[in-house]
Amino acid sequence: MYNIVVASHTFCKLMSFWCRLLHASLTSCHLLAGYKSFKLFINNEWHDAVSKKTFPTINPATGEVICEVVEGSKEDVDKAVKAAKEAFRLGSPWRRMDASQRGRLLNLLADAIERDAAYLAVSDCWFILTQSMQIHICGLVFCRYYAGWADKWEGKTIPVDGDYFCYTRHEPIGVCGQIIPWNFPLLMQAWKLAPALATGNTIVMKVAEQTPLTALYVASLIKEVGFPPGVVNIIAGMGPTAGAAISSHMDIDKIAFTGSTEVGHLIQQASGSSNLKKVSLELGGKSPNIILSDANMEEAVEQAHNAIFFNQGQCCCAGSRTYVQENIYNEFVERSVERAKKRVVGDPFNLKTDHGPQVDDEQFQKILGYISSGKKEGAKLMCGGGVAADRGYFIQPTIFGEVQDDMKIAREEIFGPVMQILKFKSIEEVIERANDTKYGLAAAVFTTDVNKAHYVSNSLRAGTVWINCYNVFGVQAPFGGYKASGAGREMGEYGLEHYTEVKTVTVKIPQKNS
Ligand code: NAD
Ligand code: MN
Repeated sequence: MYNIVVASHTFCKLMSFWCRLLHASLTSCHLLAGYKSFKLFINNEWHDAVSKKTFPTINPATGEVICEVVEGSKEDVDKAVKAAKEAFRLGSPWRRMDASQRGRLLNLLADAIERDAAYLAVSDCWFILTQSMQIHICGLVFCRYYAGWADKWEGKTIPVDGDYFCYTRHEPIGVCGQIIPWNFPLLMQAWKLAPALATGNTIVMKVAEQTPLTALYVASLIKEVGFPPGVVNIIAGMGPTAGAAISSHMDIDKIAFTGSTEVGHLIQQASGSSNLKKVSLELGGKSPNIILSDANMEEAVEQAHNAIFFNQGQCCCAGSRTYVQENIYNEFVERSVERAKKRVVGDPFNLKTDHGPQVDDEQFQKILGYISSGKKEGAKLMCGGGVAADRGYFIQPTIFGEVQDDMKIAREEIFGPVMQILKFKSIEEVIERANDTKYGLAAAVFTTDVNKAHYVSNSLRAGTVWINCYNVFGVQAPFGGYKASGAGREMGEYGLEHYTEVKTVTVKIPQKNS
């Protein structure tokens, strides 16, 4: 397991490279020097949009335009699907490729990502650099993990009744549509690409309009390492046009989506009203983080802080409802405020920075709206609550105390650096309140009592529960949501199931040698 806030050996190597590079002043020109193209990646070639449209991609630290990117829509999705379908044709190089070779290509992709991690880390440059590098390492770890699975995802032989030999084959589903969000650009991309490629599918991916650059760079690496044309097609574009064209496409066999629960509903509906393509969803959350009175106070404060403020709160599993037992409540709030005030907000490229901008103006305005709603509904603003810089989309680390369960800030996903602290009396009460949400992505409990830890963990309706830690992921461990937080699990062996059809083959075995 690795924690996304713990450094690795590779990370340290890359950081020292960066420290050297940072002495040269960085401009968009430097950042974009490694790019092959900002066009649509279809059939291993770069295409303009049929409509000839482009859209600007913006640096959220400054509000300035970084560059123009080609904007795909329905006609371009059609072209990409055609290429992906052709690449999946029976007898095509990809269909004939040994599973071990698919694994080798994925490993080569991981090597290329590792080689170019420095470029990739600044591609969609709102991420604070120190975290960006770590997240990128996680991306290539993903590719390596699923590379290993490519020739190990075995079917079964099954002892059916009668004179038959029965076995299962794990076959690729076909053309997979993949729609990803902006909050961890490379990680979200690798998270979707790796299991789909390991199992032999072909892909039409739409990347988030806020962060198209990383994905287009990875597209050039996919071509470089030798994936056959049409196996991976990558389109930058908008949700209601390019995204909707994917979710309702008649020739797409499966769709994997990560993003808001609101759009999750649309994806599921589009599948139902088109071809019943298989759907896996990784959606929003309002994850409870429960601090019992016997918890180690210092650790609980630190972990609860990172649980919500990591990536400026732009994390689907953010610990956005911090429940604290009443006898430690005052001390916990006081210490959390102290901790939040220490957070260094500023230039994402400065290695001292903990806290960068929100991804765009829309998210920025939305979060400020939630902060004023918290004030209006009577939550107690303990720190922050405002804009943190005179340009870009920076918001102060914000803490609300005395939050009540029915307040908007306690019910809706804010996706920003806003911590809600709620008070509770008994364990039974907090379990009920923690589960009283439409979401069920993650949860955590902090306690030094092993019995209480397991009792609470077993009682929570969430796909992931952390005990005395938060935001710890292992590519080997499944991740996904209960209730409106999603459908299916990604990562680990479970993650392969969503990219595989199971074929049952039954063979008659003659009982006499006639
Ligand atoms: P979103 O769900 O609108 O966007 C995610 C992806 O879906 C993007 O690629 C987008 O272009 C695409 N999309 C949008 N509308 C679509 C449609 N009609 N059909 C097909 N695809 C469509 O999320 P957002 O607007 O970027 O952010 C809004 C909120 O969503 C955030 O405030 C946050 O609460 C939540 N969110 C969650 C995650 C997560 O990891 N679970 C990620 C991003 C955003
Ligand atoms: Mn949206």
